Amino acid sequence: MKRILILLVMLSLVFSACAAEEFRILTTFYPMYILTLNVTENIEGVSVSNMAEQTVGCLHDYTLQTQDMVKIEQADALIVNGGGMEQFMERVLSARTDLPVINASDGIEMEQSIEDGLLNAHVWMDPVLAMTQVKNIADGLAAADPDHGDSYRQNAVAYCARLEALDSTLCDMLKPLEGVRIITFHEAFNYFAERYGMVVAGVIANEPGEEPSTRDIAETCDLVKELDIKTLFTEPQYPATAAQIIARETGASIYVLDPCVSGEESPAHYEAVQMENARILREAFEL
Ligand SMILES: [Zn+2]
Repeated sequence: MKRILILLVMLSLVFSACAAEEFRILTTFYPMYILTLNVTENIEGVSVSNMAEQTVGCLHDYTLQTQDMVKIEQADALIVNGGGMEQFMERVLSARTDLPVINASDGIEMEQSIEDGLLNAHVWMDPVLAMTQVKNIADGLAAADPDHGDSYRQNAVAYCARLEALDSTLCDMLKPLEGVRIITFHEAFNYFAERYGMVVAGVIANEPGEEPSTRDIAETCDLVKELDIKTLFTEPQYPATAAQIIARETGASIYVLDPCVSGEESPAHYEAVQMENARILREAFEL
């Protein structure tokens, strides 16, 4: 009996030591997860987990799951996109006032959403704004976990250099598309379009969590005809049903652009997705 007790005490010591050693970072959804994987790459004693399941798109209409509550309870720092994307978390976070919440969009001025009273929070889609997010994440983590502060910042510098190279490649690839008007599935591409000189003339879904209404679809059809738009862009995370109806009605063709809200658990995935988006855009405009 005594031996078992000693063993139990030893085991609990080992477990508490493990728990104390690891700095557990929680991200709210995929884009924050990928940026954070880069900021924490090859740093020992730091773990990153993602809250929303990878298959979820943006967090519009997301509701907290039981496993999310467990992850929030265990986290040492939380990384959010901000701009209202994580509005559903406000109540649960008020119960954990000790948890450092790092707002990746600190200092980024967001534009108004087409949804009343909301901001368009899809800033990660502009690689230059993503660099600001990376710096904010690194600074926030360095403050919450000073032991690894230098490593976070060094990783952020290296990743930002890659994002800068990505931006310059995208600039070259998309230069011929300056001024073109595009219609996207939801307002996830506004910042991306602005960076590379394109104009989002309209969106198919005003509220991405819901199917567009018959009226929305009719309005988009009118817009496509009025502006003589030849291509519609859907997103892999959402059904293309409405786009197919509009395409049939107007003769426009459909291409898929990825807002990078789901995908591989690979630090390089954001860059891969953006390169593919640029390639698809060029293909859609027959370049
Ligand atoms: Zn979205």
